[in-house]
Amino acid sequence: MSEEYHYDLVVVGGGPAGSSAAYEAARNGIRVAVLEKENSIAETVRTSGVTWIQNIKEFGIPDDCYNPIKNFSFCSPNNEVTISDSVPRAAVLDVRKTYRWLAQEAKQSGADIFVKINVNNVIKDEMGDIIGVSGVGPNGKITFHSKAVIDASGFPSVVAKAMGFATQWKRFGAGAEYEVKVENIDPDTWWLMVGQQYSPAGYAWIFPLGNNIVRIGVGVGKPESNVDPTQRLKELMDSKLGPIKKLGKISPIEFHYGLIPNDGLSRKTVFNNLILVGDSAGQANPLVLEGIRYAIKFGRAAGKVASDAIKAGNTDENYLKAYEENWKKEIESKINSAGKVQDRWIGLSDEEWDKELDIIKELKPEEFIDFIKAEFGLSNMIKLATHHPKLAVRQLFNLVKGKK
Ligand SMILES: Cc1cc2nc3c(=O)[nH]c(=O)nc-3n(C[C@H](O)[C@H](O)[C@H](O)COP(=O)(O)OP(=O)(O)OC[C@H]3O[C@@H](n4cnc5c(N)ncnc54)[C@H](O)[C@@H]3O)c2cc1C
Repeated sequence: MSEEYHYDLVVVGGGPAGSSAAYEAARNGIRVAVLEKENSIAETVRTSGVTWIQNIKEFGIPDDCYNPIKNFSFCSPNNEVTISDSVPRAAVLDVRKTYRWLAQEAKQSGADIFVKINVNNVIKDEMGDIIGVSGVGPNGKITFHSKAVIDASGFPSVVAKAMGFATQWKRFGAGAEYEVKVENIDPDTWWLMVGQQYSPAGYAWIFPLGNNIVRIGVGVGKPESNVDPTQRLKELMDSKLGPIKKLGKISPIEFHYGLIPNDGLSRKTVFNNLILVGDSAGQANPLVLEGIRYAIKFGRAAGKVASDAIKAGNTDENYLKAYEENWKKEIESKINSAGKVQDRWIGLSDEEWDKELDIIKELKPEEFIDFIKAEFGLSNMIKLATHHPKLAVRQLFNLVKGKK
């Protein structure tokens, strides 16, 4: 016999998107279940956890969940640049602590969180619309009936795939990372390392967490390169290339591995009774493959629209469209511009990277942050172009605006 539950809203996935959707929906007074396949929230870490202090504050994430960063160092085979800010604006999250805090917020708002539930199928009504999900729980088959479902299952997009609305992402980033204890590190400074030896289609990184702990990782774009990021990471750590050498003795604590979609905003994200959010919707900034702040922000937006729809007794696609319009309006043009810069970066040779760092060096800290965050609004671009008489810098901005 299958265990059966009935909720207004079922959220599949207890990552940042799922917990944030559940938090907002439960706050809006409906019955919400979050289904997470692992033994606990954030049992496996699949991310480097870099985000922005402004967003952290906006979301109310506590200060003890992150290490602040104010210096941004880059190295290419024969160049090195550091952009130093007067105040920290970036952060490296304690991912487990942050994701568990988000889940706790959802729980405190009234959502029920079920762990060890591996969702593998959908329930449909006679029209073919989703009205629940099923999967395997600790006691065997388990079924959740609901008026609406949010697919926040991340890269695998289990619900969208089971409905036949999505297929495997074709273009994506694969990343491998060790969280390690080191002898020497400036806790205020992150490192991004570019060029063929670090990653043929991507970059490597050192992100400090404080207390002499750092995350060293390698990201590789697929299908552009067939390099295995885990193998490349081991090679970099063994050969102590570039700034890795300065870390001194490295003692591994934990290994992380993950995949992130990079297909642009190719997916439709609302259907009758169904919303896709976070990585499941492809909501990631492709420049540096960061998606946590979008997962939280649009998770909350999805939870609000879904719960309003449930309260209004109308969960069809037309009602839920407000969610898609909202998030596309906010990030579509930024993501498209970021994609153009990424395409340029993927094609750079080592010598070209050395020169690109000279361009990056020209940026003021706040300009650099806007750039890396893909905040390519028109007013930002005009400001940047007028502040930078140098031709190379202007060419970079023209690229973002779509000109040759
Ligand atoms: C190597 C790497 C480094 C990254 N670094 C950064 C970074 O520095 N900064 C940044 O902002 N972003 C980064 N990202 C991207 C970021 O991790 C994602 O954009 C973000 O985690 C998306 O959140 P999500 O909730 O949509 O998905 P996820 O965080 O993937 O959460 C999905 C949840 O669903 C659960 N789930 C999956 N399948 C099922 C199922 N069948 N049944 C039940 N539960 C299921 C999973 O266990 C997981 O808990 C990185 C990604 C990778 C791969």
